[in-house]
Amino acid sequence: MQLFPTAGFSALTLTLVLGACGGSPLPLREAPAPDPTVAIVRATLWDGTGRGPVSNAVTLIRGDRILCAGSAGECPVPRRARIIDANGQWLIPGLIDSHVHLLFLTAGSATEELSLDLRDLLAQGVTSVRDMGTNPAELLARVRILEATPRVYAMQLVAGRRFFFNGFQGTRTARGVVFRQPPAMTMQSLGWTPIMYNSTDDPDSIVAMAREAGAMGLKLYAQLDRESVTKLVAAAHRAGMPVWGHAWVQPASALEQALAGQDGVVHAAGFAGELFTAEERDTLVSDGILQVATAEVATVGAAHDPRITDALDSMARLGTFFEPTLDATKHSVAYFNAKRRHIPSEQEEYVRAAFGFGMEVTREAVRRGVRISAGSDHVAYGPSNERASLFGELRLLVDSISLTPSAALLAATRDAARAIGGEAAQRLGTIEPGHYADLVLLSKNPLTDIDNLDSVEWIMKSGRIWRPGQLRSGIASR
Ligand SMILES: [Zn+2]
Repeated sequence: MQLFPTAGFSALTLTLVLGACGGSPLPLREAPAPDPTVAIVRATLWDGTGRGPVSNAVTLIRGDRILCAGSAGECPVPRRARIIDANGQWLIPGLIDSHVHLLFLTAGSATEELSLDLRDLLAQGVTSVRDMGTNPAELLARVRILEATPRVYAMQLVAGRRFFFNGFQGTRTARGVVFRQPPAMTMQSLGWTPIMYNSTDDPDSIVAMAREAGAMGLKLYAQLDRESVTKLVAAAHRAGMPVWGHAWVQPASALEQALAGQDGVVHAAGFAGELFTAEERDTLVSDGILQVATAEVATVGAAHDPRITDALDSMARLGTFFEPTLDATKHSVAYFNAKRRHIPSEQEEYVRAAFGFGMEVTREAVRRGVRISAGSDHVAYGPSNERASLFGELRLLVDSISLTPSAALLAATRDAARAIGGEAAQRLGTIEPGHYADLVLLSKNPLTDIDNLDSVEWIMKSGRIWRPGQLRSGIASR
């Protein structure tokens, strides 16, 4: 049964009929409906697909999606579209930081800090982030009520029994025996929610808990052996969820994680784990011992050890992603450099070793074709100049690792979207028909100088445009 006029019975026909009934003539001319399409014209388009920049480009947006992006010939502009003239400017995909930690339920209002941090990320052109494990349910609920934020994807932290119960065994150090509380307790005091897993547990129940919390994948944190990693990866993949983990996840090494089918590893310094035997890895339980042991073996030269290059080659072959998080380590080094009174510590030795070693491991990884995702390990807490940023990570990838600006940008757009997986891999990272309209317009060319990423004119997320000043005004007025 059809209740409505057919398509042929248009509004104009209706007007004529009504006009005839009323007896008085009505004007026949009607204002044409505006086309809901937005056309960004004359920009140089770098679409993140791997093709070169397109000058004098046309990018068509309707609602929250991209309709067409390419040369003027490829994308005809509808007659009544709303035009944005971007002559002389550069249009790139919204940036993706695939490694952040957003929720810290300590010292003050997490809601306000979180809101300001997310606005600031968006103002930098970061339209999507992946939280690498805090408290997915709490975080996502808080983000949902905020207006101006990047898209937030969340991972669920998983760790082995010894992360939760270390038996309060003392660690022998140069200063005597040091007692530490289990790392899980420190983490829980921040409001984070790691889940415990033993290799005899049902891995599908862990995946179900992660999904229940709203997480889109698992982040393996520590104290997981090869068998546990293998079972968790298989269970998560059965549910269509990706698994990432620290390189290494003690005792499982980065190579073992890659061979288990894990999707990606984070932190370049963790490749020091490859330099220990399986038995040695099993004894490196606490953070303290781990840092001392890493500082001893993680030299710049060790980055070329065949055990490490073999692991990297396997990752390249298997397509395992690598997120070096260099900027975070650089910030840690800067923290020690800025100290007025210098007291040598295990942590400082670790940080300094980790930085040089991590850089060299990253160079090896790039040389060997490992897929890189530009996650920064940014935290939404503490003094802003001490927080790692995606911009800082990209700068290091160009200046210290010698990636071209466009290769670095791919690691923060197309490849970061693939690294996150799920919806992100389907709809983000490139400017293509059907993808979300997440874009950044720059006044300067980022392909000649990555620093030009700081020339953001506006940010579009889901078709809605923000200017950096508008987003940051809330911060400035504090
Ligand atoms: Zn992290």
